[in-house]
Amino acid sequence: MEQSLSIYNTLTRTKEIFEPLHAPYVGMYVCGPTVYGDPHLGHARPAITFDILFRYFKHIGYKVRYVRNITDVGHLVNDADEGEDKIEKKARLENLEPMEVVHYYENRYHKAMDALNVLPPSIEPHASGHIIEQIQIAKEILDNGYAYESEGSVYFDVGKYNTKYSYGKLSGRNIEDMLNTTRALEGQEEKRNSIDFALWKKASQEHIMRWPSPWGDGFPGWHLECTAMGKKYLGERFDIHGGGMDLIFPHHECEIAQCVASIGHEAVRYWMHNNMVTVNGQKMGKSLGNFINLEEFFSGTHPVLTQPYSPMTIRFFILQAHYRSTVDFSNEALQASEKGLARLMESYRNISRLEAKATVSTISVQELVQKSYEAMNDDLNTPIVISYLFEASRNINAALDGHIALTSGDIEELKQFFNVFFFELLGIRDDSKAQNASYDSFAKAVDLLLQIRMQAKQNKDWATSDKIRNELAAIGFEIKDTKDGFEWQLKSR
Ligand code: ZN
Repeated sequence: MEQSLSIYNTLTRTKEIFEPLHAPYVGMYVCGPTVYGDPHLGHARPAITFDILFRYFKHIGYKVRYVRNITDVGHLVNDADEGEDKIEKKARLENLEPMEVVHYYENRYHKAMDALNVLPPSIEPHASGHIIEQIQIAKEILDNGYAYESEGSVYFDVGKYNTKYSYGKLSGRNIEDMLNTTRALEGQEEKRNSIDFALWKKASQEHIMRWPSPWGDGFPGWHLECTAMGKKYLGERFDIHGGGMDLIFPHHECEIAQCVASIGHEAVRYWMHNNMVTVNGQKMGKSLGNFINLEEFFSGTHPVLTQPYSPMTIRFFILQAHYRSTVDFSNEALQASEKGLARLMESYRNISRLEAKATVSTISVQELVQKSYEAMNDDLNTPIVISYLFEASRNINAALDGHIALTSGDIEELKQFFNVFFFELLGIRDDSKAQNASYDSFAKAVDLLLQIRMQAKQNKDWATSDKIRNELAAIGFEIKDTKDGFEWQLKSR
């Protein structure tokens, strides 16, 4: 490979040069959404972060199998394996089948991801479709002596595991501290230790989402699905496992333990975590009144927002920070991003207005390209790439204003630079162009129908002429006959 990407390995806390285990194939697994509520910023950030990695791997010539799961066997309300399943709770409150809840929110998630121009992963497996694989891993862990059955549930024996391996190696937590700080919880008597976590939970009478198992009817523990689906689709060793920083503990820590306890070694080579988002400097939370879902950003309907923000503004804003830094959403910051994005978009459009007025280059677009690759290779430093796009934008403006003269080669290279870095790698989409293009086709189709109507009238084919007029009127068109033809408009409904 020509480009050598270095990534920050959360496990070793070092930047390392990435080399795939099975070049040219790269296996990456990212923890996807739990589908029980509207997609929000907490969904957008990991999806966009790993979309960049997915795009970049493909761009530098790898073949990528990108697995992002759908958690549809609801996580329980807290990490201690107690309480109600979130999907079931929603289903009960809204009087729906749990799978109706899953399907509804999964569709909304996909719609939001499309709006953000996040590419679909290669495989999007559902936890509920992999119960057999999860039971199999729980059995292996039991057989290897790192789990125990208790009252129809199966728990991972953290204490025993820690005598041979290191529980806490990813999060840097000390097991002794955890033993001292974990609170006593209801139902804990089933466990040998409060930090033991469920591989399988016995379903209570009223629990709807349940499956048969060697230990009776129940459902898998929160952490098991990713271990099972990662292994199934990417094998016993794969390159990258990603997700939000909030998943490091306990989710990813537990995944490592489950993997080692079942197959004897770790599966994941690089752990990558994106940092969190805040809103006006605060953690986003339902109780804080600053919980804004993506639809509300796009429509500007949340009281905290002073205007709507397009999906591309949200995407660009997220990419203006390095993925390992926090991102703070505020109206001021988003407005600045909106302006910056518009400036880059305008510069790109202006490239087609540039005329070659020099025979020798006075600027070096290749240097910007090279430096942008270096930034991407340095742990996906998107804010630096964006700064080089702004530098290119200044060159374009200077050329338009006649302050510098460009060669035809410079102009071609500027266009290529935007095509590769702005559109292909950062995944910015010119939504106004898409809207204008689809509106143009739509308007042409309506014009065509009305021209057919004019011909029908000339031929005294009143049936056809009335049919076109009446049916267009029925779907909301206002049509006026004028002396040279027609005028139409679509009444807003
Ligand atoms: Zn996961």
